[in-house]
Amino acid sequence: MTTVVDLRSDTVTRPTPGMREAIANAEVGDDVMGDDPTVQRLESLTAEVLGKEAALFMPSGSMTNQIAVRIHCKPGDEFLCEAGCHIYNYEQGAFAQLSGVVARTIEGNNGVLQPEQLHGMIRAENEHLVRTRLVCLENTHNRGGGRVQPYEQVAGICEWAHDGGLKTHLDGARLFNAVAATGIAADQWSKHFDTVSVCFSKGLGAPVGSALAGPADMIREARRHRKCFGGAMRQVGIIAAGALYAMQHHRERLTEDHANAQILADAVRATDGIRLLTPEVDTNIVFIEVDPALGTAAEFVTGLQQEGVLALAITPTRVRAVTHLDVDESAMRRAAEVISLVAERLASGVKPEVDGVVAY
Ligand SMILES: *Cc1c(COP(=O)(O)O)cnc(C)c1O
Repeated sequence: MTTVVDLRSDTVTRPTPGMREAIANAEVGDDVMGDDPTVQRLESLTAEVLGKEAALFMPSGSMTNQIAVRIHCKPGDEFLCEAGCHIYNYEQGAFAQLSGVVARTIEGNNGVLQPEQLHGMIRAENEHLVRTRLVCLENTHNRGGGRVQPYEQVAGICEWAHDGGLKTHLDGARLFNAVAATGIAADQWSKHFDTVSVCFSKGLGAPVGSALAGPADMIREARRHRKCFGGAMRQVGIIAAGALYAMQHHRERLTEDHANAQILADAVRATDGIRLLTPEVDTNIVFIEVDPALGTAAEFVTGLQQEGVLALAITPTRVRAVTHLDVDESAMRRAAEVISLVAERLASGVKPEVDGVVAY
C-alpha cells in the first residue's frame, strides 16, 4: 500500500523533532507539590494567552470540561448546551456519572446556536425543578464540521447567561483554530466565559494534555477536583514540555491546516456523488456527505483506506476528514485525488467489502 495520509483526526500527530527535544530537556519536579517549573510555565503562558488569572494542566480535554461542569454546578443542577457538543456526546455523560448534573440540549445549526434559542430556558426557582446553572459552548464545533461560532452570537449568549445569573464555560479544544480562522485573539473569545478549556493534543500537535483557565479562585477549586478525579500528576513537565512547545510554535501554523482543508473541500465540490455538509469549510474539519446512490460512508472510507487515505465514517452517510500538522500540502493533494477516484469507483458499482464493526 502507498504512504498513509491519516485524516481521521488532528489527534494523530506525532511530536516533531523540536518538540521531542523540548520534552527530552524538560526541567521537572513533583507537580502535586507545586514543584514542576515546566508545568508552571505552561500554565502561566496559557492563562496569559487566554487573558485569565490562572490555568491548570490536565491529562485530557474531557477532564478539563468535566471539572468545569463540576466547579460550576452542584448535584441536581443542569447546564445548557448544543445538542451535538462534545461534553454531551463524547464524554460518556460523565457530568451525570461523576457530578450528578443533568444536561439540557438545544439543537443548533451545525453546532451554531443563536442567542434567542436560549431565551426562556432558565428554570424557575421551584422545588420540582433542577436548577439551571451553566451554559457550555464549543468553538470550533467538532460535530458541526469545525464551524466557528459567530463572535457576536457568542458574546450575546454569554451576556444573556450572566444577566440570568448563569456561569459560562467554553470547550475550546480547537479555540486556536477559531483564532487562526478569524484573526480574533484568544483572549477576545475567552473574555466572555468564566472558564475556558483548550487542548494541546489536537491541532497544536502535542502528544498529551489540555488546560482549564479562569479566575484564580475557580482554578484553585478545579485543582482540588483534579486530585479527586485522579488527574494530579508528578513529574508531568515531561509531557507539559510538549504542550508548551506547541503553544509557542504551532498556533500560527494552523492556517496551513485550514488551507489544506480547502484543497479537500475543492475536490469534494468538483466530484459527483459527494458534497460538503456546509457550503464553506471554516477550519480544519471537512464533512463529506456521501450520496446513498454511491454507497455508505463506511464503504467510502474503506475505499479510501485501500488507497492509503484514512478518514472516519461518523454517520451512515457522513465522512469526517481532519487536516493537521502531519499532513503537508502534497499529501493533501494526493488525498484529494483519492477522494475523487473513490467516488468514481463507487459510482461505477465497485463496492469494497467493509471490514469490522462501524461505530458512530
Ligand atoms: C477532543 C475534544 C475534547 C477533549 O477530548 P480528550 O480526548 O478528552 O482530550 C473536548 N472537546 C472537543 C470539542 C474535542 O474535539
